[in-house]
Amino acid sequence: MAELLTLDEALERILGHARPLPQETVVVEDAVGRVLVEPALAHVDLPPFPSSAMDGFAVRASDVPGELPIAYRVAAGSPAPGPLPTGAAAGIATGGAVPAGAEAVVPVEAADDRGASVVIRGPVEHGQHVRPQGGDVRAGTAVVSAGSWLRAAQIGSLAASGLAEVVCAARPKVAVIATGSELRAPGTELAAGQIYESNRAMIAAVLAQAGADVEVMPVVADDPAAHRAALADGLEADVLVTSGGVSMGELDLVRQTEAELGVEEIFWGVAVKPGKPLSFGVRGATLVFGLPGNPVSSLVGSLVFVTPALLALQGAASPLPRYAVGTTSVSLRRNAHRDEFVRAVHSRDEDGVLEPIRGQESHMIARAAAADAILHVPRGDGEIAAGSPVRFLPLT
Ligand code: AMP
Ligand code: MG
Repeated sequence: MAELLTLDEALERILGHARPLPQETVVVEDAVGRVLVEPALAHVDLPPFPSSAMDGFAVRASDVPGELPIAYRVAAGSPAPGPLPTGAAAGIATGGAVPAGAEAVVPVEAADDRGASVVIRGPVEHGQHVRPQGGDVRAGTAVVSAGSWLRAAQIGSLAASGLAEVVCAARPKVAVIATGSELRAPGTELAAGQIYESNRAMIAAVLAQAGADVEVMPVVADDPAAHRAALADGLEADVLVTSGGVSMGELDLVRQTEAELGVEEIFWGVAVKPGKPLSFGVRGATLVFGLPGNPVSSLVGSLVFVTPALLALQGAASPLPRYAVGTTSVSLRRNAHRDEFVRAVHSRDEDGVLEPIRGQESHMIARAAAADAILHVPRGDGEIAAGSPVRFLPLT
C-alpha cells in the first residue's frame, strides 16, 4: 500500500472502468432501484381531462352567487352526460371530469346542497379547484429522464403517465463472498475464536437498493485452494465483491489469488476511514472489489464505492454518492490524512442535526444499528465546529 488514493481519485478510477450493461424492457412495478436508459414519454396528458380537485359543484363563474338547479352529478370515472347548461350547477366528485362550459368548482363546504338545487353564497374565481388537462405532464414529453435512478416517486409517475413498461439497463449480477476461517453462520453455536458472519447479508442489502441481482456465495476459509475455487466462481459475475482478506496478514489471500486468476489490480488502499485497505481491479468487464472485513468497513465500502459502480454500470446520470446536507451537533476533529465516515443519527426533531453515535471503531457493527446516516468528515486540518454544515449519506 505504497501510496493511498484519495476518495475522489478512487471513485474516478472505479467509474472509469464501468462499461454500461445491455438494456432490457422492464415492468414498471419491478423497476424500483433500476436505472432508466431511455427517457420515459408520458402515454397521456396528466390529468387526462380537466378534473375536479374537490368534492363540490361545477359552475360557470358568471352564474354565482345564487341558487342554481343541479343538472346532474358526475362521479369519478364517468364522463358528464353533456355540457353544463347555462344557469345550472353539476355535482362533482374529486377526480370527476369537469363538464364542458364549467369554469370552477365550489367545494361542498361552501355550498348548501338542497337536492334539486344548490345555493352558493360567494363568488368564485375562474379555474378554482379545477385541475387543467396536462397540468402535470403533457403526453409525449419525458416524465422521467434517461439516466434516472428509479425509486418510489419515479415509479409512481411512470404508472400515472400510463406506462406499464420502461427500458432499463440489465441488473448487474453481483457475487458476494465473505472470507475468513473464523466465520460461522448466525443460528449455529460458536466455538472458541469464532464469530458470526455478518457482511454478506449486509452488503447484499446495500447493493440490492442499487439494482443489483445479488448472489450470496458460501463463506470461504483462509486457504489458497478454497479461495481459488470460490473467487473463480465469483469472477463470472458482472461485479465480484469480497469481504475480508485484503490487509497485510499472512492469510489475507484475496488479492494474490485474484491476481493468479487474471484480475488486473487498479488500486489497493484509499485514504478513508474506515475501509483503507480496499482493493479494486478488473478482469475483462468484471469489476472486482475487495472490501476490508471489519463490518463497518464493509458497510461504508459498499455504500461509498460499490454502489456508484453499480449505478454507473446501469448508465445512471449521477452515479456518485448522493450526499445530503445537515449540521453536526458536536465539533468533529478532521483527520489530516484520511476522509472519515462517521455513523450518526439524523435528528427528526431538530432540523437536519446529525449526532455521531458512540462507538466508531470499525468492528462495532452492533453500535451502528442506532445510526441512520453516514457523516462525511473530509480530511484536513483542525475541527469542524458544532453547528457547521456537513454532508451525509442516508442509511436507508
Ligand atoms: P480481515 O479484513 O479479513 O482482516 O478481517 C477484519 C476483521 O473483520 C476481523 O476481525 C474479522 O474477523 C472480521 N470479519 C471479516 N469478515 C467478516 C464477516 N464476513 N463478518 C463479520 N466479521 C468479519
Ligand atoms: Mg480475514
